[in-house]
Amino acid sequence: MAVPKKRTSVRRKGLRRAGHTHKLYANVPTMKCPNCQSLTVKHHLCPSCGHYRGRAIIEVASPQDAEEGGHEKGGDESR
Ligand SMILES: [Zn+2]
Repeated sequence: MAVPKKRTSVRRKGLRRAGHTHKLYANVPTMKCPNCQSLTVKHHLCPSCGHYRGRAIIEVASPQDAEEGGHEKGGDESR
């Protein structure tokens, strides 16, 4: 049976459980959107223009100024 060689430290355990959002563990592959040239996550639709693989999947209210919007996806800002 495989046994870990070193004990996982409290810091490393906390980093692992941080939801992979910490800068040491965030390894999200990014790419440029072919439609609006903004930085998006691979295999996800573009949040600024709503395109994925060259097709418009969702309707974004205004693709030009998408920075001030963003309230249509999710809408769970009460946390
Ligand atoms: Zn886009």
